Amino acid sequence: MRIVLLGAPGSGKGTQSKLLIEKYKIPQISTGDLLRAAVAANTELGKRAKAAMDAGKLVSDDVVLGMIQERLAKPDARSGFILDGFPRNIPQAQALDAMLARMGQPLQLALLVDVDTEVLMKRLTGRRTCSNAACGAIYNIYFSPPKSPGKCDKCGSALSHRSDDNESTVHNRLQVYEQQTAPLVSYYKAQGKLRTVRGVGSVNEIFKNVSDIIEVQMRPLAAAMSAAAAAAAKGAPAPAAKPVKKAAKAAAAKAASKPAAKPVAKKPAAKPVKKAKAAPKKAAKKVAPKKTKKAAPKKKAAPKAKKKK
Ligand SMILES: [Zn+2]
Repeated sequence: MRIVLLGAPGSGKGTQSKLLIEKYKIPQISTGDLLRAAVAANTELGKRAKAAMDAGKLVSDDVVLGMIQERLAKPDARSGFILDGFPRNIPQAQALDAMLARMGQPLQLALLVDVDTEVLMKRLTGRRTCSNAACGAIYNIYFSPPKSPGKCDKCGSALSHRSDDNESTVHNRLQVYEQQTAPLVSYYKAQGKLRTVRGVGSVNEIFKNVSDIIEVQMRPLAAAMSAAAAAAAKGAPAPAAKPVKKAAKAAAAKAASKPAAKPVAKKPAAKPVKKAKAAPKKAAKKVAPKKTKKAAPKKKAAPKAKKKK
């Protein structure tokens, strides 16, 4: 899965990225890390990067893209990667697309972790850290406050507020992010690659949604078929993304184990809605074996289901 991750400071995309790395065994590619590594290893690109930095200039997109390309050629990136922090603007996104096209590895997904600005402000400005370096506990006065204000629950030391977490600094950072990212969101949306996940709730809830999006992106055929199956079973138009995915798994499992289940699901759909609802599983089990031989829908349903596996 080849992913670009988009999200504001405080959106929690870093946490989601870590979970993605674990689950899908793909590396995260951070341009900051690549730059440091290339400079330290004194590679050709590293030398050019260092020259630019020494001259107080920004490292050119060519150099950064070259580093990304070298990184993507490594074996661990064969099954995909997560790009975080790059691209930051449209020219970079276009150059990245061109490079990935040459490599025959186009991006599959631009995942935006979306959090309201108000919540981001609270997450970032509400941070308090224990001043005792050996403890280092972290609090948030809005979301996870200490029991007594300004005091660490664990060691009793005073809590400190980082100067770059003050309201105006944070506000500026978020504005810069918004200005940079909004065009990228449109860019990937136009390509049909943008998916958005709400970055609120528990880390696990968010990751569940992220995983659902990725599963659907990885198996677009299965997703389309499950939508069709769900629609047929309910006699209604395909529902939204999440239910579809669950239906997909259920349908796939049914199709794999009991091919006979399919025609039953399809038949009621053709009948009035009341009957469709009334057709329970018990009936399906009894009726199914007989019908498999003559029922036409089965021919359509079963082979597709097998391909999917
Ligand atoms: Zn402490």
